[in-house]
Amino acid sequence: MRIIDAHTHTWTKDIISEKDRRAREIAAERAGIEPQLDSPIESLKIAMERGHVDRAVVLPIDSGLSQTMPLSLQAKTNWHADEVAKYPDIITFVGIDPRRGEEGLIELERAVMEKDCRGWKIYPPNGFYPDDDKFYPYYERCVELNIPIVIHTGFTSRFKHVKYGQPVYVDKVAADFPDLKIVLAHVGVPWTDEALMVASKSPNVSVDVSGWQVFASRVPMKVYQMIAEAKISRVFPNRLIFGSDFPLFEYAMPLEQWVEFFSNLRLPDELTDIGYPQITSEEIEKVMSRNAARIFFGERS
Ligand SMILES: [Zn+2]
Repeated sequence: MRIIDAHTHTWTKDIISEKDRRAREIAAERAGIEPQLDSPIESLKIAMERGHVDRAVVLPIDSGLSQTMPLSLQAKTNWHADEVAKYPDIITFVGIDPRRGEEGLIELERAVMEKDCRGWKIYPPNGFYPDDDKFYPYYERCVELNIPIVIHTGFTSRFKHVKYGQPVYVDKVAADFPDLKIVLAHVGVPWTDEALMVASKSPNVSVDVSGWQVFASRVPMKVYQMIAEAKISRVFPNRLIFGSDFPLFEYAMPLEQWVEFFSNLRLPDELTDIGYPQITSEEIEKVMSRNAARIFFGERS
């Protein structure tokens, strides 16, 4: 089965802010592991090979308006574009905070047209609601450029603001831009029902399961329940996408195990006995690669 990891990150300590470095240390302490201050694309490539992952999508985040960053917005775009240029099976998005206004719009266009960035990553917990009318020119431009957007939804790190991560703040954008391909990252966890509700009412909205390996490693029933609900609400199988958030959750479940877990996923009797329909291997194949191939790589399916 072909595998696409639709949600990954790469960085080195030269490109992250002091605050993000601190947040990584706090998160590592909580998980009882060493903080990961360097995770260049080579680490992703090694994990992909171990997990038999064919393609991956890197999603850079622009925290430049809320933190002092070592690189300018443009230099950071270039850094990511140069990294993925080494590997034909890895693509990158561009991370831009839409509060940058015109400067950000120009960078969005440059990133896509000149640096081969394939979509826009939005990170609302840096301090904004994504459905602000002021950001509509960005969404219009993404439709014109025919690129997808991935919006972080759900839980965030220590110094960011989680209220902006509620999936419902994407609903107006999804309704107003029916041709815009939108992916809600992490199925909005812990607002999972809300993310599925937003996706269920808008056919242009998908969800990615990155980060859920934390549950898979400890309480797999939570993953089964989410998939069962996604199927009932018709988001599964065509609009649920496999992803890992590599390397953030390697401590909980390495990518190769996460691939294994999801590729073989079936609902337990406890759920099918109370009426949830079982899922099939054809449906799982859509989640593991065909949905991402369509949304991120422009393949027909
Ligand atoms: Zn992420």
